[in-house]
Amino acid sequence: MAYLPDDLPGPEPTIDDRPFWDACRMRELRFQRCADCGRFRHPPAPVCARCGSRRSNWVRAADEAELFSFTVVHHAADDAVAASVPYNVAIVLFPSFDGVRLVSNVVDCAADELRIGMRLSLVWEVAGDGVPLPRFRRAVGG
Ligand code: ZN
Repeated sequence: MAYLPDDLPGPEPTIDDRPFWDACRMRELRFQRCADCGRFRHPPAPVCARCGSRRSNWVRAADEAELFSFTVVHHAADDAVAASVPYNVAIVLFPSFDGVRLVSNVVDCAADELRIGMRLSLVWEVAGDGVPLPRFRRAVGG
């Protein structure tokens, strides 16, 4: 069973983040990195904020991630997720990737077990429209 309902709308890629979603379809989490200065940028953007370059490539994410912050939703803002409360919304940090942060969810973890700084590992969860979404669970030993 998916962490959130299968029938939630799937991603609608833009010209900037389409490579991110294309990689997700292959169950690869990739972040955009400036091809000139090497700085990661997420969310994806057409221009590097540090050096102004328009060139980039897409680098597969490191396995090491940690919980940077989170909230636990108890009151559904939409009927579509009413049966899923309480659920968490997590900001996942990739320390070795210039501190890239990804908004996601931590699965298989009770709300009162979430801890800022806990080590996380990537899992894929297929949404109803067939797109694998990057989610996270507590890393072994984390
Ligand atoms: Zn740059």
